[in-house]
Amino acid sequence: MNDFKYKKSLGQNFLNDKNILGKIVLSSNIFPNSLIIEVGPGNGALTKELIKTGNYVLAFEIDDRLRGSLELLEKNNENLRVVFADFLKVNVNDYINNYKFNKLYVIANIPYYITTPIVTKIIDVINPDVFTIMVQKEVGNRLMASPNTRDYGSLSVYSQFKYNITKICDVSRNSFFPKPDVDSIVLKFEKKLDTSEFTNMELFFKFVRDAFKHKRKNLKNNLCQYDLNKIETFLKTIGKDLTYRAEQISIDEFVNLYEYLITE
Ligand code: SAM
Repeated sequence: MNDFKYKKSLGQNFLNDKNILGKIVLSSNIFPNSLIIEVGPGNGALTKELIKTGNYVLAFEIDDRLRGSLELLEKNNENLRVVFADFLKVNVNDYINNYKFNKLYVIANIPYYITTPIVTKIIDVINPDVFTIMVQKEVGNRLMASPNTRDYGSLSVYSQFKYNITKICDVSRNSFFPKPDVDSIVLKFEKKLDTSEFTNMELFFKFVRDAFKHKRKNLKNNLCQYDLNKIETFLKTIGKDLTYRAEQISIDEFVNLYEYLITE
């Protein structure tokens, strides 16, 4: 990798801290005979640790210039498959369907310029049992934010709707080469019990986004296109009213409010 020209535009900041790499893998509690998906293996630092667990590793890398080193790693490790493609465009399930496995994981130090679309694809399309990802600290704080905090928003509701999130560790910018302008955080997402009964996710998340539309406005203003009488009736049952703002509504309250709203 000595003469490798790192591309900032691809979020190429490679982790070079063995201790953190070990923590990412260990904290994921990987069940035997599992499939681990990695987004952006880069120089293969994390990939090598994942391979060592003995599970299947399926990695997606956009940068063809990394083909030489990654293909060599693939040749020496039967449990590794590297696909050179844009993770956001590739049909990941086509590849997943080739494996028989116990549990599905995503473990990755993701390229920060596309954090939200990657998290969205992981949750909506891959729907793994567990995913452990390294993200920019500020985004991580938003993903795991609780109600009544500055960071709480529709992204928090979206990511915590199906998953419980725990922070594994903070990672200093000094642990990367080249050194990025931001610090990072490792988060572990564990799937909650089945939410499949909740049928219309798209409309639910539209409702949540509407509730957060204008941060300074209250529910009465942001949700004026919905049945405000019904919303008010529900809010009363939880000791709240239409003057509350979306950031004061917990995820469970959003789910219950929406379910109440769509029932006759
Ligand atoms: N896994 C390595 C590590 O931990 O050091 C590299 C992580 S680096 C932050 C992000 C990696 O994602 C880079 O190798 C980059 O080329 C790759 N990447 C960027 N955009 C991608 C995309 N759309 N699809 C797949 N890989 C991508």
